[in-house]
Amino acid sequence: MKRPPSNARMRQAIDLRSTNAASPMTTYFSYPDPCLQDELRKIANAIVAPGKGILAADESVGTMGKRLQGIGLENTEENRRKYRQLLFTTDKKIGEHISGVILFHETLYQKADNGTPFVELLKERGIIPGIKVDTGVVPLMGSEEEGTTQGLDDLGKRCAQYKKDGCHFAKWRCVLKIGKNTPSYQAMLENANVLARYASICQMNGLVPIVEPEVLPDGDHDLDRAQKVTEIVLAFVYKALSDHHIFLEGTLLKPNMVTGGMSYSCKYSPADVGKATVTALQRTVPAAVPGVTFLSGGQSEEEATVNLDAINKQEGKKPWALTFSYGRALQASVLKVWGGKDENIAAAQQELMKRAKANSLAATGKYDGSAAAESATQSLFVPDHKY
Ligand code: 13P
Repeated sequence: MKRPPSNARMRQAIDLRSTNAASPMTTYFSYPDPCLQDELRKIANAIVAPGKGILAADESVGTMGKRLQGIGLENTEENRRKYRQLLFTTDKKIGEHISGVILFHETLYQKADNGTPFVELLKERGIIPGIKVDTGVVPLMGSEEEGTTQGLDDLGKRCAQYKKDGCHFAKWRCVLKIGKNTPSYQAMLENANVLARYASICQMNGLVPIVEPEVLPDGDHDLDRAQKVTEIVLAFVYKALSDHHIFLEGTLLKPNMVTGGMSYSCKYSPADVGKATVTALQRTVPAAVPGVTFLSGGQSEEEATVNLDAINKQEGKKPWALTFSYGRALQASVLKVWGGKDENIAAAQQELMKRAKANSLAATGKYDGSAAAESATQSLFVPDHKY
């Protein structure tokens, strides 16, 4: 039989696509229109501009309660507002180191004492507002205490509203656990897929998705096991993102650094962590992804800085920006110094500036150890950490 000419074949393909006919031709799809691609690419690139990173201040009400309890404060909306006000009224120079802040829903709509919306305070500092959109981890039936993350219902509507209200990126955290039989195929497949659905809904609404598959540091595993698990988890994630036609140039990855388990008998050097982490990323993260913004995962403030520095000093191919998106490792000293007292606000803001600057240097492999106070070396590990 004579083969149809190529333009006829193309028409056939378009027909199949537009009529949605059942077909094995899953390779027909379209990326977002060029304007949206440009918008997403620009946001992602601005977040990972050289020497800049993210402050993750998106603790849920419950998690913020634990942080406030640590300094003897009650978990009220007003105390949460006062604390976030402290963060967002830090000197404007903070914008030289912090490009984005991840907010929790409640915080997005709060205002400073003088009535200025928090979103405006961030904009005045050249900081891009972002928003946590997942609604937390739930158990996977039949698994060995593994979970998935929920929040897809209404996500499109919420993303559209958040974009209108000034947010330009989002975060969704999934959690994977290292155990004798975990992470399981079920957990890796499910979490990768839910991250891909989330990423797709964000992109449709003009938000850059931060894709966060966190492999928890809980356990007595060594560095090799952490590296292999991280590689497999990331491979699942990028297969799912490809299946869902995610525009990778408009995404960011927020992974764990590859470290030994918290209860492993030996301590690895920052150079070991740097090598294992960069190798895992090289094997799995496409070069089209503009940046990797690590979580701190219970490392001390100083450890998170030194390890980020080592990652950037690691030789070899690194086609992405490698920077920070820290929660605990940017806020532990700030909270301690503040202690809930107005007279300590300026000193607490200086702590934030100090850590932000140190991480900014680490993000370009130029950290000189100058922020290494005794208080910054305390472990911030929380078993089975919830956000
Ligand atoms: P930590 O840096 O405290 O691990 O948290 C970052 C974060 O956003 C986790 O989702």
